[in-house]
Amino acid sequence: IETKFPTMGTTIFTVMSALAAEKGAVNLGQGFPDFECDPRLVDAVTEAMRKGLNQYPPMTGIAPLREAIAAKVEAIYGRKYDPVSEITVTAGATQAIITAVLAIVKPGDEVIVLEPCYDSYVPNIELAGGKVVRVPLVPGTFRPDFPKIAAALSPRTRAIMINSPHNPSGTVWTRAEMLQLQELLAPTDVFVISDEVYEHMVFDGQLHQSAARFPGLAARSLIVSSFGKTYHVTGWKVGYVAAPAALSAEFRKVHQFNVFTVNTPMQYGLASYMASPEPYLQLPAFYQRKRDLFREGLARTRFRLLPSEGTYFQCVDISQVSDLKEAEFCKWLTSEIGVAAIPLSAFYGGGFDQRVVRFCYAKKDETLRSALDRLAKL
Ligand code: PMP
Ligand code: GLN
Repeated sequence: IETKFPTMGTTIFTVMSALAAEKGAVNLGQGFPDFECDPRLVDAVTEAMRKGLNQYPPMTGIAPLREAIAAKVEAIYGRKYDPVSEITVTAGATQAIITAVLAIVKPGDEVIVLEPCYDSYVPNIELAGGKVVRVPLVPGTFRPDFPKIAAALSPRTRAIMINSPHNPSGTVWTRAEMLQLQELLAPTDVFVISDEVYEHMVFDGQLHQSAARFPGLAARSLIVSSFGKTYHVTGWKVGYVAAPAALSAEFRKVHQFNVFTVNTPMQYGLASYMASPEPYLQLPAFYQRKRDLFREGLARTRFRLLPSEGTYFQCVDISQVSDLKEAEFCKWLTSEIGVAAIPLSAFYGGGFDQRVVRFCYAKKDETLRSALDRLAKL
């Protein structure tokens, strides 16, 4: 058939997970936990199903979940979102992001992405008919490059997509950086799609600087998060968008014809589980310990470790280990060493090669140790 998207390939996550399975490799590629979620969360969902909460929920999500989300956002970030008009439950962050893009980007509009970026952003903009404007994060440190962002802004800029804590680099934007973005956008009408799916995974006492904390940003932002990351249930695909009422209304116009609603029992289960903040308050310590365990092991290899300030990703420079390009190196590592990783080139357009690959450490300690045993020879 005549294809509409001749250049659109298969996502790197599908490719590397399939290769890892085929080769029996330890899969530190695709980002997902290999341990169970809290059984109380499963009980809460099961109870909802047994109670017969199995039919369509409201289009925007069930009220108790929207209320729990609004309460959490206000408690942590100090901004009050109206659960009726400003919070929408989505089928994970992936749907939230594409729906946000489709809702605000008109054909020909420019959208700024900061590369490397999550692999769905660019195809999402293209599907909306928008023009992708790529601005690199500072090579090596992956911090926002404000002079370059400023230079990329034009009268046609409709939106900028940001992501902190950042996949793949694990950097976390500082308050000063968020303030700089706020100041830069102040004279513009540019919207912000702020992908904050790793909001609860920030380490070493740093704070997550949600766009919700900054009135000038919050007023123009669609903030996206995902329960998959926070509660170790990536397969459930439930997330949300918080945005001012006028932006939420635009979002919902598309959402209603995109998924219409998100599964009911999961929403009830999540709403009751959210009554306790403990699970997400404990998350930084939980992942920081795994990060440290993994980094200690990697420090004994010739990989050069980059910082991992947040997320559950650890990037390493491979220059001292191999001359292969990132993508080839990841295939070699999976096939010959038995550990799967993701090449950073998957998060860039156009042939970048920073000699960096990404490991996911959201794994049981035994999985991390088994991967480290295999990597020890490098
Ligand atoms: N954004 C980023 C930065 C991610 O890492 C992920 C996880 N794959 C998503 C969005 C998508 O999240 P979800 O699984 O909830 O669709
Ligand atoms: N967010 C995860 C990652 O970056 C999984 C993505 C996916 O499977 N699409 O690895």
